Amino acid sequence: MVDKAVKDERHKARQQKLKENVDKRVDAAQTERGVLIVITGNGKGKSTSGFGTVARCVGHGYKAAVVQFIKGTWDCGERNLLEGAGVEFQVMNTGFTWETQNKEADTAAAQKVWQAAKRMLADPSLHLVLLDEITYMVQYGYLDLDEVIDALNARPEEQSVVLTGRGAHRRLTEIADTVSEVQPLKHAFDAGIKARKGVDW
Ligand code: ATP
Ligand code: MG
Repeated sequence: MVDKAVKDERHKARQQKLKENVDKRVDAAQTERGVLIVITGNGKGKSTSGFGTVARCVGHGYKAAVVQFIKGTWDCGERNLLEGAGVEFQVMNTGFTWETQNKEADTAAAQKVWQAAKRMLADPSLHLVLLDEITYMVQYGYLDLDEVIDALNARPEEQSVVLTGRGAHRRLTEIADTVSEVQPLKHAFDAGIKARKGVDW
């Protein structure tokens, strides 16, 4: 049996090696610019992640803005909090919800908030822009993918953007710096548990 001192020594050497590798990578990351983040996949946590990033940004005294491309039927806890902290919210408040099926009205509603999104993506005073549930707008053809990509690529250098929604288009993940796919290993809803205020919205 290997004695404890030898085991401890090996553990220490492994940790040291790990630390050296991490330090090397931290030193190598020298570029300073805003990033494009895509949070996609079928699991829970995409919008939560986007709003968590907005809270982080505002907590440092930076400006952030949010566009919600799908209006829920409930009021939204993060909006209640963050609007009070000076975060501009633009919410698609006519036309598209999961319940409607009117392509013309949905497209007009999406285009309306997209104008606000374009203004935000051209505003250098914004450190972060969250475009929540935008993937569906592209998927359904309510927004033009080339136009979205052009606006993202032309944004101020210091500005970061978070895009959320399932099934992110490949061209969006291609231009992103960070892409996370949330996997649904389990969801309470499947066990018949209702969505909860203060947890799910
Ligand atoms: P959240 O806002 O909780 O981070 P999300 O943005 O990842 O969720 P959406 O598809 O936008 O996911 O879902 C909005 C609502 O649907 C939330 O109430 C969320 O809890 C619920 N939801 C998310 N993923 C699932 C799932 N796999 N099964 C059932 N309900 C889900
Ligand atoms: Mg969401």
